Parts: sequence; C-alpha cells; structure tokens
Amino acid sequence: MKRENVLIILSMLVLAFFLAKMFDGGNLSTGSQRTQELIYSDFKALVASGDVVNAQIVGDSLIEGFTQDGMGYRTYIPAEDPSVIDYLRLYQIPINYVPEKSLPWYLSILINWGPFLLIFGIWMVLMRRMQGGGGAGGLFSIGRSRAKKMEPSEMKVTFDDVAGVEEAKDDLKETVDFLKDPAKFRKLGGRIPKGMLMSGSPGTGKTLLAKAVAGEAEVPFYSMSGSDFVEMFVGVGASRVRDMFEQGRQNAPCIIFIDEIDAVGGSRGTGMGGGNDEREQTLNQLLVEMDGFDGMEGIIVIAATNRPDVLDPALLRPGRFDRHVSIPLPDVKGREEILHIHAKKVQMAEGVDMSIIARGTPGFSGADLKNLINEAALGGARNNKTELKLADFEWARDKVMMGTERRSMVMSEKEKRNTAYHEAGHALVSALLPKTDPIHKVTIVPRGRSLGLTAFLPKNDSHSYDIDFLSNRITIAMGGRAAEKIIFDEVTTGASNDIQQATDTIRNMICTWGMSKSFGPIVFGSDNQHYVLGRSIGKGREFSEKTATEIDEEMRATIKFHDEKAKKLLRDNIDVLHKIVEVLMKEETIEGSYIMDLLGPKKSKVEPVGG
Ligand code: ADP
Ligand code: ZN
Repeated sequence: MKRENVLIILSMLVLAFFLAKMFDGGNLSTGSQRTQELIYSDFKALVASGDVVNAQIVGDSLIEGFTQDGMGYRTYIPAEDPSVIDYLRLYQIPINYVPEKSLPWYLSILINWGPFLLIFGIWMVLMRRMQGGGGAGGLFSIGRSRAKKMEPSEMKVTFDDVAGVEEAKDDLKETVDFLKDPAKFRKLGGRIPKGMLMSGSPGTGKTLLAKAVAGEAEVPFYSMSGSDFVEMFVGVGASRVRDMFEQGRQNAPCIIFIDEIDAVGGSRGTGMGGGNDEREQTLNQLLVEMDGFDGMEGIIVIAATNRPDVLDPALLRPGRFDRHVSIPLPDVKGREEILHIHAKKVQMAEGVDMSIIARGTPGFSGADLKNLINEAALGGARNNKTELKLADFEWARDKVMMGTERRSMVMSEKEKRNTAYHEAGHALVSALLPKTDPIHKVTIVPRGRSLGLTAFLPKNDSHSYDIDFLSNRITIAMGGRAAEKIIFDEVTTGASNDIQQATDTIRNMICTWGMSKSFGPIVFGSDNQHYVLGRSIGKGREFSEKTATEIDEEMRATIKFHDEKAKKLLRDNIDVLHKIVEVLMKEETIEGSYIMDLLGPKKSKVEPVGG
C-alpha cells in the first residue's frame, strides 16, 4: 500500500476516535473540569441538602449543580419528575440556562457520516491499489488488461541484440516471417504455431528474444506478467486475459508475451479441494482464448517460464503452447558474444580479450553478463578511468559472482571435473554402443537444475523403439554415474535423474511393452491411468504382491546389468574418457562429432546386446 493511503486511513481513524470521545452521548459537558456525574436521586438529595449554590441547565435535560467548594455535579432530569428544579427554586439558587451547544456543520456531518466515509475511503484505496495507480478510467478499469504495449517504432530490439541462443533464434525465424506477412503464409497453407513456450533460467534472454521477434517483424508487442493476472477478486484475472486478447486481435499481427506463466498456468488441483478459484478461472480463460483464434489471424502468444515442469498439461496441448523453445544458459562462445554486445556501450581499451572473461564465467546468464559490463563501467567511472581494461572486467566478474545468487550455480573446479566425467561417461558409452542416436553436444554448462548435459540428435522422430535401442538407453543413462564411480569412487546427486530415467524405462519395458524375457508379452497395470484434476496419480495395479516382488527383482537385476556394462565400456576406453574430460574442462561444450573422431574405428567393435 502506498504511504499516503496509509496516512489517510490512519488520520481518519484517529479523527473518528477523537470525535466519538468528544461527543460522547451526543451532549457536551459545560466545561468545568471537575464535574462528576450522579444518579438523579443522589443529585436531588444533594440539592435538597442545600449544598448546591449555583446551577445551570444545559439543553432540555442536563442539569449541573456546583457546590461552594467549586465541585460540579450533573445528572439528567427525567421528564416525568422535574421536581429537582422546584427544589432549586425553593432554595432560591440561581439557575443559568445554556442551550445545548450545537456542532459546527462539518463536525455533525463527520459524526453522522464518519463511519460510512471511513469505509468508503478504505474501499477507494483498495480499488486504487488493485488497478495499479490512478489515471483516467479509475475504478472502472479494474478488469482491463494491464498489458504494456510497445509499438514497432519503439521496438529497437533485433536478433542481433541476442547472442548465444542460435538454435532458439533459428526456431523463431519462421515466426518472424509469418508475422511480417500472415496473408502470404495463409496462401501457402503453412501452419504456424500460435503459442510458444520459452523455458530457461531467469536472465537468459527470454523476454529479450520475444521482443526481438516483434522487432524483426515490426509488429506491436504486448507484454504482461502472469502474476499481474492473479488478483484478490475472483474474475478479475479472467477478464484481464479476455481484454488482453481483445487488444491483440484489434492490433494483429502482433505478439502477446506472457512472462512467468507459471503464476497462472501452474498445474491445477494440486491442493485438492483447496484450489485457488481465481487462478483457475484465469487459466481457464487463457485456454479458452488460446483455442478461440486460429494462428492465421497473426497473433503469436509467447509465454516464458523457468519452471516448465509445473505447468498444467492442458496448456501444452496442441493448439495452445505446443511449440517449446528452451533457452539454455550460454556456453563459452555464447558468453563471449553476449559480452561483445553489451561492451559496445562502454569505452573499452584496445585489444581487451573478452574470451578470457567468457571462460571465467561459467553459469552466468545473459543478464549476469550485462551486469558484469555495467559493474565494470561503474567501477571504472569511480576510479576516473577513461577506458576499461581487462582487469576492470575481471574485477567486475568477481563482484557479480559474489554478489548474485547464481553464485551457487558457478561450479567449483572439483564440481566441474565431476560433471565433466559424468557427462563424458554418458557420451562415451553412447558413442561406443551401436544403434544409438548420434551425440549432438556434450556440455558442462549448468542448465536449470542440472550441472551438465549430453544432448542427442535423434535421426528421426520415431516413437516406437526396439529392445536394443531401449537397453542402450539404459546403459547410457548409467554411464554418467559409472564414470564418476570409476574415477572418484563416489557418486554425486547429479546421477539421480539418470537413475529415475533408467528405472522408468525398465519398468515400462517389463510392465507396459512386454519386453521382459521372464514375463513375456503381458501388460501389468491397466493403461487407463487414474486422473485427478488432470494429474495422473498412478496406474491401477492389477497384479499380485508376488508378481510385484518379481518385477522389482527383475528391475534391480536389469539395472545392475546395465551398470556393469557401462563400467566395462568405460574402463576399456579410459584413455578416451580422460581425453574428453580434458577438452570439456577447457571448452565446456564439445560437439558429438569430436567424440566420434576420437574413437575412430573403435565404434563398431562392440557387439549388439539384448535384455
Ligand atoms: P528473462 O526474460 O529470460 O528473465 P531478460 O530477457 O529479461 O531475461 O534478460 C535481461 C537482460 O539481460 C536483457 O535485457 C539483456 O540486456 C540481457 N540478456 C539476457 N540474455 C541475453 C542474450 N542472450 N544476449 C544478449 N543480452 C542478453
Ligand atoms: Zn547424467
């Protein structure tokens, strides 16, 4: 809440309290500080005793009597027994009459209307807060979208401003072509995905890339953050979504960018019964809107998240956010390019070698690198330098490293070596086995929650695999852990994902695909998974406890078999393993072809294996 709002509310409260006190009972006291209230009979007795020397009547029912010693007493005269006045007359006590003090008009308004005004004031403040600061439209624009619009003329971002994400850029070029001339695309009958999901750590340039698409295509860019949709009142988010798409439709072709989509698009029904109505309504509205236009209108919705795993599966269905672009942290080469982009804005000394900085910043995102350049410039300015030298950038790097949360992502030398062996293990095992997908890249640049990655390039999009392929996949999964075990005789937590993956594959081979030698072609557990609010809660089990135990045993044996096999492959080629690691430590990312070259003719020597 804004400060002035707090002040308004506080002062109204204080005023109301003060007034209530002051006009307690609607009557005013007459000023004597020492006036004591008596019950009527006591007051009458007091008068009757003759102690009262002086009296006054205020309005038509309050009477005050003063004694010799200056003490005041008061009471209300009941209409049915005004005899106290007769007593006063009896004692010939002078009676003064004062009319009831009437309040100034503004005070009486305040008293009568105060509580109402107070409530109204609080309501105003809340409304104001909800629609994010005043402006024309005031109270009525609460359900309007708050999307920020950027016209093509303001969009100076192009693909040249984004570096280190070449693959994502390639993916997006088609989108740019489409936005430039939707009609042409329509004629050719090309299908364009209307929803695109960008996933990647914070600061990797997702927003920048979305802006660049708009900039390249010269179309308006609407941006809104998922958290802006979710408000206190049910229905507001949904109406904002509706409004945002309405604006988009009127200005097509355009880009609608939704940052942090997980704020609305998180999986539904995770808190059973205690769900968040507002968020679900917003999400439903988003789904409705996504279904409601065909991509040909020229609206492209780009959503960004760093938690693609928590998104509601409904969002990722065909026709919605069905195109997935993942934005990795940049590798050495990417970092160098990003550094160059941002270094253009600062005064650099001749011949500063940015590759040195790039090599020393594994785990840095684009935003971190931009920050590094900034810090260098600030530091230089503080020291009255006219141009920045390598040392300035190195100083800035240390500052950024120690000052940001990503520090934990920046790997220690030992962690780096561990990861290198782990990934090299996966890659080498894969390279040695026949019938595997070619290796695309091996990297030890941390990505998301994993420290490294071995990426494959499947030859085709085939979705049916044979036993050999699947067995190999298990062996490859075990390869990372096996390498760590051989070299360091210990394993890190980095392998847990691999084990999960291997276990899942084996379970499916036995239980679903009927590939087990001992069980044969039989499906355990029905294929109808049980869904609760869109989430699978597991398969129904339709087999005995004994069978379950047997399946467990077979799974364990299979894992062990593949683990041994991976270890043997690695031991037999340990020289190549060391070599890969050596290069990985230097380059961080290597191409699959490099590993194949290292292996040379060894590749085809391994005999095919079954189960
Ligand atoms: P995200 O949306 O992924 O959190 P942003 O796009 O907001 O990241 O990135 C923040 C800033 O960091 C950008 O404005 C840009 O200056 C810089 N940046 C991030 N990634 C890159 C990149 N790949 N190339 C150039 N600059 C980048
Ligand atoms: Zn692994």
